[in-house]
Amino acid sequence: MTAVSLSGKDFAAEIRSEVRARASQLIQLGVQPKLSVVVATDDGGSAWYVRSIARSAEKVGIACDIVDLGADATADALKARISELSRDPSVHGVILQTPLPSGVQASELVGLIDVDKDVDGANPTTLGLRMAGVPAFPPATAEAVVALLEHHEVPLEGREIAVVGRSTVVGKPLAHLLLDRNATVTICHSRTKDLMAVTSRADVVVAAVGRAELLGAEHVRPGAVVVDVGTNPTEDGGLVGDVNASEIVEVAGALTPVPGGVGPVTTALLLRHTIDAAAK
Ligand code: NAP
Repeated sequence: MTAVSLSGKDFAAEIRSEVRARASQLIQLGVQPKLSVVVATDDGGSAWYVRSIARSAEKVGIACDIVDLGADATADALKARISELSRDPSVHGVILQTPLPSGVQASELVGLIDVDKDVDGANPTTLGLRMAGVPAFPPATAEAVVALLEHHEVPLEGREIAVVGRSTVVGKPLAHLLLDRNATVTICHSRTKDLMAVTSRADVVVAAVGRAELLGAEHVRPGAVVVDVGTNPTEDGGLVGDVNASEIVEVAGALTPVPGGVGPVTTALLLRHTIDAAAK
């Protein structure tokens, strides 16, 4: 068996074209949609990611302002800038990029992002609202996993889904979004006793771990759907996921590629959220 590739590229292009049309309507009404990305790192991978968001935004008519406070920015400087952007009526979306300078915790900053501008669902209030069933932006990566599966018509209701990783940005909110689709979800993490026992009985396995090729063929039952959220840089400047794709492709029924799977959908959804925020 060779797994079907669940690409995110065409789907992301569809989302971007919808966003472009909505941005142009807003611009005709005199509203220039604007996304601000706050950066305080000289990490190369992060810089590449932020540039790619900015390029995508500008192509669809969203102004993207990279607010770079430098790798030695203090927590106070970051707090002041995020608060300012939250109050600025010309800014519709605010994202705080990680990593942050050592000693600065994202948790002390994300609460300052106005909930209505929190297009990557990072503020604990935004996360809490969603948990309570109140509309608010979900973290884009978690939403991208569900949107990509639904786009490829992978049934979720009643299915056993193993989510490997319990971060606040991906694993936990993703588990909640899947519960909303009536899936039966098991969340695994670094203390899970028998990871393979959980993943190998799942209909769908999502890897959001940040460990290159952690999951192999033995972790997946034949025919299962595998979503690889991982983006681990390789020495030659490429990217590999959290699953060993060359092994899993022989066992799984379907697999998302890295790159070209969850990543482009995540960026497209961030842009859609920015337009939603601007339209408010
Ligand atoms: P993270 O905050 O580092 O969380 C990693 C999670 O994996 C933790 O819950 C950790 O468990 C768990 N884990 C680590 N080693 C494990 C092991 N051996 N077995 C089982 N679980 C293990 O990472 P993240 O921010 O969620 O990101 C995960 C991956 O997704 C990264 O590769 C990141 O680059 C990628 N990512 C991609 C996108 C995209 O758009 N494609 C966006 C965001 C992130 P503990 O909680 O017990 O430590």
